[in-house]
Amino acid sequence: MTMHEGGCACGDVRYSTTTEVLRAVVCHCRYCQTRTGSAFGISVYFDKADVNVHTGELSTYTYKTESGGSGTTRFCKNCGTTLFWNITHDMFKEWTGVAGGSFDPPTFWYDMQVEVFCRSSAPWVNTTIEEKHETSRIYNPSITEAEHLSLE
Ligand SMILES: [Zn+2]
Ligand SMILES: [Zn+2]
Repeated sequence: MTMHEGGCACGDVRYSTTTEVLRAVVCHCRYCQTRTGSAFGISVYFDKADVNVHTGELSTYTYKTESGGSGTTRFCKNCGTTLFWNITHDMFKEWTGVAGGSFDPPTFWYDMQVEVFCRSSAPWVNTTIEEKHETSRIYNPSITEAEHLSLE
């Protein structure tokens, strides 16, 4: 069994993952940019049952995705670090996304497989990831995003 541990900035929330990564994604969408305050989000997906929270309290935030589903993020009640998310889309519904930067050192132990929503990437981000998509293969916009999230 491959176990990896991680947690939030203040240390209240500690978690472990107990299996191999299902998929690891760098995401340049506006939602990841605003959520992190940074240039992109890092989603490391595991089977839901294989992400275990040991200590700390989490708050949640649920939002509608542009493709008509919803996403729920979980973040430390004390320091606000977003650690996990779940998306209702079929492909992801049994998966939990873990914030890639929150694993204990050596933090970036997983292989990065794909880069999505490159259409809104910062002009100075230039990764070595080979598979890149302008949006993503599940992208199917059905709602109009709020102005701060929109590219229109
Ligand atoms: Zn915290
Ligand atoms: Zn994103």
